[in-house]
Amino acid sequence: MKIRNRLNPSDPCFSFEFFPPKTDAGTDNLMKTLEELAPLEPGFVSVTYGAGGSTRDKTVDLVTRIKGETGIETMAHLTCLGHTRDELRELLRRLKGARIDNVLALRGDMPQGGLPAEPVDGGLARATDLVRFIRDEDFDFSLGGACYPEGHVETGSRDDDLRYLKAKVDAGLDFVITQLFFDNAFYFDFVERARRAGINVPIVPGIMPITNYEQIQRFTRMCGATVPMRLTLQLERLKEQPDALVQLGVAHATVQCMELLARGVPGIHFYTLNKSPATRMIVSALKARK
Ligand SMILES: Cc1cc2nc3c(=O)[nH]c(=O)nc-3n(C[C@H](O)[C@H](O)[C@H](O)COP(=O)(O)OP(=O)(O)OC[C@H]3O[C@@H](n4cnc5c(N)ncnc54)[C@H](O)[C@@H]3O)c2cc1C
Repeated sequence: MKIRNRLNPSDPCFSFEFFPPKTDAGTDNLMKTLEELAPLEPGFVSVTYGAGGSTRDKTVDLVTRIKGETGIETMAHLTCLGHTRDELRELLRRLKGARIDNVLALRGDMPQGGLPAEPVDGGLARATDLVRFIRDEDFDFSLGGACYPEGHVETGSRDDDLRYLKAKVDAGLDFVITQLFFDNAFYFDFVERARRAGINVPIVPGIMPITNYEQIQRFTRMCGATVPMRLTLQLERLKEQPDALVQLGVAHATVQCMELLARGVPGIHFYTLNKSPATRMIVSALKARK
């Protein structure tokens, strides 16, 4: 099933993102987690791709296994930095061969974070080039891409960022998924600006339930997402009380999602960080809202 056909504000789809565990035991645990999540009827699950191709086989194997063993629709993330065109072609063929219908086409970052993003000789420099490559090679994936309500960390201007996003969508994207955000105003404002700029594909909000104080500090530093002052103060007060902090994170994300759904989003993508209980609580509450 192609994800582009599943994104519909009248029946929004919940999706869960995982990263490939390092060990076989970790993968088995993840498969158990997926069994627990199945009753929530996710629209799809996605599996991330390690910077520079570090999880190349693991990502392909995991999406294949999830689709084969659980029947849940899957999407493979794919980053172009660090790969030649031949390697990318081969990976895309493997995904097609495994009957994977959906790819999130990304540039990625350098494996040693902080270095400028440089393609290998003859490789692809940006996600737009990867989208063009996939379309030119006639792979008929449903293609998603990334977008950034608060602007991408490397861009000086949010208007430029939007112009580049328009080019990426025009190259052949069917939908985009946002970077995480904790204040819905960023998402609503971004959607309005994107529509004005002629970007008409579904814009799926990406939500990360906060479950750990240090981790969220690290993540937001890396991706530039703003944590509202009031939430920051609440998190600081609870940083020595892990259970209470998770409850706060779940409550905040649930309120965010309720508002997003009330205002007609086509789906919600959860960055689970492979910790599903928080996401399970949120989605259970969302499903009970009708
Ligand atoms: C939903 C989601 C999932 C992700 N999954 C992964 C993953 O699995 N693995 C991983 O490694 N990373 C992942 N990332 C992170 C992503 O790889 C980084 O944010 C990366 O820095 C940018 O990737 P991109 O695909 O958005 O790049 P691009 O769309 O290529 O944009 C990168 C930068 O280039 C700028 N730009 C674009 N076109 C031009 C142009 N013509 N001229 C000048 N500047 C331009 C953009 O404004 C932006 O600043 C994910 C991000 C999101 C939001």
